[in-house]
Amino acid sequence: MIIDFQSAVELIKKGDVIAFPTETVYGLGADANNILAIKKTYELKGRPSDNPLIVHVSSVSQAEDITRNLPESFYKLAESFWPGPLTLIVEKNPSVPDIVTGGLSTVAVRMPNHPLALKLITQSGPLTAPSANKSGKPSPTKPEHIWQDYGDVLPVLDGGSTTIGLESTILDLTSELPEILRPGAISNIELSEALGEKIRPFQEKKFNEPKPVKSPGTKYTHYKPDAEVKWIRKIPKSLEIKALYIVHSQKKLPNAKNLISYGGNFKALAKDLYDIFRSADHQQYEKIYIEELPEQQKDTMISALNNRISKACNE
Ligand code: AMP
Ligand code: MG
Repeated sequence: MIIDFQSAVELIKKGDVIAFPTETVYGLGADANNILAIKKTYELKGRPSDNPLIVHVSSVSQAEDITRNLPESFYKLAESFWPGPLTLIVEKNPSVPDIVTGGLSTVAVRMPNHPLALKLITQSGPLTAPSANKSGKPSPTKPEHIWQDYGDVLPVLDGGSTTIGLESTILDLTSELPEILRPGAISNIELSEALGEKIRPFQEKKFNEPKPVKSPGTKYTHYKPDAEVKWIRKIPKSLEIKALYIVHSQKKLPNAKNLISYGGNFKALAKDLYDIFRSADHQQYEKIYIEELPEQQKDTMISALNNRISKACNE
């Protein structure tokens, strides 16, 4: 159910959970100091309790309140990229409830670049906000997606479609070398330029890898539509009727309603990806074939798209 701004603030203050827009995807917001509200978030999403939440702030001083021993790199990156799609992992202040961080001594913090989100957080205080989908489903990039998962009962602050469409880049500032734990719209090149030092780029971890997973959420299945998602090298001459094809490189394309071409516009593909996943299910496609992405280190979206699409592929 769509709610107005004032109701959103009141509901959060009362300990309720609401969905609100950010520039990446919609978040399921709760007061970051209210343990019961945060419990409700986990229950609503069906999210495992060892998968910690990102705390959303609207100022650096709010970030300072929930953390400690912030390194210089934090200030440099906040100055360069906040508000924006960058989540920073830093030491948590002991006052932050354990339920927020899944018992970790670190906390994930981000300042979203969305006027409604910033205004809401300024009035309600820091919000924990995982993506507003049911656990395992693609993240919502418009209010309809939230209704698909929850029905019309969840209060939603409507901000239309989100502009980026994929979740934030997560950078761990607590390891010796800053390390990308999840790729997003801000690339390792931009980050190391802003920091003036090397960072460890994102490395896909294999499911069974014995090394401990630093970002607990990355070990769970995500972003998955019901249709089977598969990479393809080339579009076949004859298309399967029950499959949707997403392509970007080929010039001469068959004119078919189950084929969507993005040319080289990977930002547009990122913005639409989860909507494509959800509409493919709605239209009862059984498969989604996606043409392999080129290796272009400089295109910030490619690493994030590769990560999300690979996770959506049935392994
Ligand atoms: P979501 O909110 O659904 O976008 O997922 C948040 C992601 O942030 C998950 O992959 C979490 O594992 C990750 N995350 C949250 N807090 C931490 C933390 N303290 N250390 C490492 N990763 C974190
Ligand atoms: Mg999520």
